[in-house]
Amino acid sequence: MRIFVTGGAGFIGSALVRHLIENTEHEVLNFDKLTYAGTLTSLSSVAASPRYSFKQGDVCDERVVATAISDFQPDVITHLAAESHVDRSIDGPGAFVQTNIVGTYTMLAAALDYWRKLPTDRAQSFRFHHISTDEVFGSLGETGYFTETTPYDPRSPYSASKAGSDHLVSAWGHTFGLPVLITNCSNNYGPYHFPEKLIPLMIVKALAGEPLPVYGNGTNVRDWLYVEDHVRALQYVFEKGVPGQTYNVGGNSERRNIDVVKTVCEILDRQHPRADGRSYGEQISYVADRPGHDQRYAIDARKISDDLGWKPAESFESGIEKTVAWFLGNRNWWKEIIERSQAAMRRGLGA
Ligand code: NAD
Repeated sequence: MRIFVTGGAGFIGSALVRHLIENTEHEVLNFDKLTYAGTLTSLSSVAASPRYSFKQGDVCDERVVATAISDFQPDVITHLAAESHVDRSIDGPGAFVQTNIVGTYTMLAAALDYWRKLPTDRAQSFRFHHISTDEVFGSLGETGYFTETTPYDPRSPYSASKAGSDHLVSAWGHTFGLPVLITNCSNNYGPYHFPEKLIPLMIVKALAGEPLPVYGNGTNVRDWLYVEDHVRALQYVFEKGVPGQTYNVGGNSERRNIDVVKTVCEILDRQHPRADGRSYGEQISYVADRPGHDQRYAIDARKISDDLGWKPAESFESGIEKTVAWFLGNRNWWKEIIERSQAAMRRGLGA
């Protein structure tokens, strides 16, 4: 199949592109604006493949999106391009409304136009797959799980913008008959994770000898999904999922943030002991909580398991061990990103 991936230079998108090139026969077009979060070095292992191509473009740009879709003639569009960092959505929500809501609308409009012109057999098998988050469901207490029928209750500008995009996708399925699929997944982690997110941030700061900032009292709970398990799930969904359905994807790995950070420190203590022989755990420091910080997210992923046969292969213990090892072995990848963002800040181009 010909797969049009938006956001393929980001964390999950690049894992999906690498997976599709390395483990399938599919052809992939990576359509990405290359914002601060997009890094083509994450794709160097597959860039030379004749089944991979890259087009720089903005999902909000109607003309560029329409041309790219028409030129590539996709069988599937997997839409991952988004502004994805909750903290940034608090500082500057406008970019989230623009990319996540207007950008998804632009993708849907172009996809519908393209789909309507396809011959019947190709129109029947075409899929528009939208990648979303469990954060659209709001916050849980100590018990319970998000299912596909949990009512939406987004709390942050990020999750509200993702909820808005999910509703648009669903509406394009109901109203226009576009064969849409939505997946809502939990917190991803793994190789090539942008170093502003919790796990890579802790690894990078620990190695730099800096304090490890943990929000509030660190008791917020997230379910952790190894990124390579997630991208396998995405393939299951666009290949076998039923149009109009949504699927929750989770890692069966609920952890308190403070326990995640302590685990990272313990693994670093083993894999890369501090020169002074002390534990990285001594660098943990609690900072003022994020406004509106949701207490707990937890996913019931039985539907994708029962209906499509997907299950995560990694436990949190095995996945986090691999992740820390990857960051220790690939310092050039993240050092280059940090230097680039610091240079941007010096030029006053980004906060
Ligand atoms: P990311 O921030 O690492 O990557 C986003 C990518 O989108 C970047 O390559 C960026 O250049 C590109 N992009 C941003 N704006 C664009 C635009 N206007 N036009 C074209 N490209 C643009 O994000 P991620 O963590 O890989 O997340 C991918 C998707 O998965 C997002 O839709 C996100 O909401 C969703 N998601 C992520 C997680 C997670 O834990 N990371 C969890 C649930 C859902």
